[in-house]
Amino acid sequence: MELPLRIPIPEEVTAIARRLEEAGHETWCVGGAVRDTLLGDEQKDFDLATSATPEQVQALFRRTVAVGVKYGTVGVLDNDRVLHEVTTFRHDVRTDGRHAEVAYGVSLDEDLARRDFTVNAIAYHPLRGEWRDPFGGVDDLERRRLRAVGDPSARFREDYLRVLRALRFTARLDFAIEPETWEAARAAAPGLEQLSAERVRDEWFKGLRTTRSIRRLLSLWQKSGAAAVWIPQLWSAEEVEAWPGDDAPAHRDPIVLTALCCHEPVAVLSRLRVSNAELARTVALVAGPTEPAGISTRDVRRWLAAVDGAADDFAALWQLRSGLSFPWAAEVAAVRAAGVPLRRGDLAVSGQDLIAAGIPAGPAVGQVLERLLALVVDDPTLNERAALVARAKEIV
Ligand code: ATP
Ligand code: MG
Repeated sequence: MELPLRIPIPEEVTAIARRLEEAGHETWCVGGAVRDTLLGDEQKDFDLATSATPEQVQALFRRTVAVGVKYGTVGVLDNDRVLHEVTTFRHDVRTDGRHAEVAYGVSLDEDLARRDFTVNAIAYHPLRGEWRDPFGGVDDLERRRLRAVGDPSARFREDYLRVLRALRFTARLDFAIEPETWEAARAAAPGLEQLSAERVRDEWFKGLRTTRSIRRLLSLWQKSGAAAVWIPQLWSAEEVEAWPGDDAPAHRDPIVLTALCCHEPVAVLSRLRVSNAELARTVALVAGPTEPAGISTRDVRRWLAAVDGAADDFAALWQLRSGLSFPWAAEVAAVRAAGVPLRRGDLAVSGQDLIAAGIPAGPAVGQVLERLLALVVDDPTLNERAALVARAKEIV
């Protein structure tokens, strides 16, 4: 690849680099934004690597945020309060597969040497327009291949998360994995057990959001052995093959995608420690009903009342499963636009009204409201106070 003489770097980033350089600290653009710019995808969010210590960075800028000072990263806020990450050149002094202890006082090349993949270890000097690529990352970009920096087995054992990062970048960039890196990733996969569920979840979600092809990502998780450790409920290769859906869907919600491609998604996502709200969405998706029982507006109202807030997730899942658009979409929109009652709170009577009308306080009130709601969902014209109170008395 013919390296461009200059790549476009936002003025705010250049200004931070200039300030550091003028104070005598070497400063380079590094990481994913350099990689993606070289791939033709212009970037704004450049990470900076510098010889300045975190304290020196903090002293040089008025507004900073301690993003990860333990790992050498200081966030510098520009005039628009946009945060730019500035990380001190560092190397790992001790690693245990999960955490690293880092030390400063190293050169740019040493800093690049502790990065995961060659395509992520290219540096660009934003003021001089100079390139540094000690591991052949540009050549790998050109060949579209993902290759570990240095000895792949050692690199994966230092931090098992790199195995999952390899799968993610390969699927997102639509690259091949260099054979030695792939063999090492597979050999390291059992070590993934040591990772925290949160780090695995973040990688799984990022992978689902960014992959070019869902099939490719799933196949990489299967073949590497990562799925066997963390998501044994993932579709088998045959199930992936049989899926008729769109392999590059616009819809990228990781909860819905996990529900699509895993058996027992609740078990998968609770192990990955998703939030309670996300777990509740998953439970609702599994519970169903996945779609209205028929094509009438009444069927759509009944279904919306039954699934409550989960309707959009079901529609997304339906599309993902079939590759077709959700047949009830227009009807759902119409029901919503009409503002018809679908929840207890939409009823023209409250529990208090019923008690005032003589219904005994207690569980009976809730049961009567449920019955009234069912009637109103079937026929929204019944949603009138006096009529509902009269009905309530008949029901009890
Ligand atoms: P993305 O587009 O996902 O942000 P990225 O390459 O910028 O991709 P980040 O996680 O933002 O990835 O990390 C920035 C850079 O830090 C990487 O390009 C890589 O050089 C380095 N890096 C991040 N995580 C690791 C890791 N676990 N091991 C080694 N190097 C890493
Ligand atoms: Mg990044």
